[in-house]
Amino acid sequence: MNYILLDLEWNDTYCKKTHGFVNEIVEFGAVKLDEQFNEIDRFSKIVRSSLTKRLSNRFKQLTGMTNEQMQSGILFCEALDMYKKWAGEDIITLTWSNSDLHTLYHNCMLFTGSSKDAVVGKYVDLQRYFQHELSLLGNEVKNQISLSNAAALFNINFSDESLHHALDDSEIAAAILRKCYNKKRFDDFIVDTAQKGFYEKMMFKAHYLSDLNHPLVDKNKLYISCPSCKNKAKRVASWYYKRPWFHSRFACSSCNIKFKAAISIKRHFDRVDIKKKIFEASAKEIQKISATKTTEKIPVNKTK
Ligand SMILES: [Zn+2]
Repeated sequence: MNYILLDLEWNDTYCKKTHGFVNEIVEFGAVKLDEQFNEIDRFSKIVRSSLTKRLSNRFKQLTGMTNEQMQSGILFCEALDMYKKWAGEDIITLTWSNSDLHTLYHNCMLFTGSSKDAVVGKYVDLQRYFQHELSLLGNEVKNQISLSNAAALFNINFSDESLHHALDDSEIAAAILRKCYNKKRFDDFIVDTAQKGFYEKMMFKAHYLSDLNHPLVDKNKLYISCPSCKNKAKRVASWYYKRPWFHSRFACSSCNIKFKAAISIKRHFDRVDIKKKIFEASAKEIQKISATKTTEKIPVNKTK
């Protein structure tokens, strides 16, 4: 089995077909390592844009690539094909953050029309793995760590000019892998891009639901427990939505308290997370709550 450190460079350009800006891949770079992490091969291809003759100034500054170099490249489909043949089978592909996979997926959808072309076999997001290793060493990892910062942490030498060149970045990533590899923990990070729904799951953007009638919302889960006796409290006002929370007032007749609480519902690809918080629950607010005065306004979804 071989390891492949893949790095893509993409240029932000307008696409008439999608009426929006897309990250178009203009360079593939990769190194292949054997099981002992010895480099055994390299891959480097410049891709000629199908959308523009000119690279953005930002991209040119970042990578040093010229329009002429880009135009001398090969088409995306051709480059992808060559890359796949070069990569071979029985590999684990690694990229620094999964944004390369996102971009690969979008480019495949745009230029080949098939998400299957974005399949790279077994895969590890090296940035995620690295950050996990760093957290085990007691470091608080809040933001995504750039490749150059990660390299600096391990005293891996690189020149500023070599950053953001696909092949050089792949080599830096390979050096990082050698320094932070732990078989058991690494294996936990391996996912299979060929698995059904892999890309759908990866591309899915988790979001808060703003509709309590959404078919994924289980009404039975929308209760609030009394902060004192932990029994289900009665909702005594209508819901109002202030992103991402649904707010309302609640009362517990056994404890004679009223309080405000809120619920948020976050949709993930394969689950829905419901969070609840209680804002105030004061014993001073003791009031006799008349059951007849409360109004349940939760719309019931009959199909659920
Ligand atoms: Zn209570």
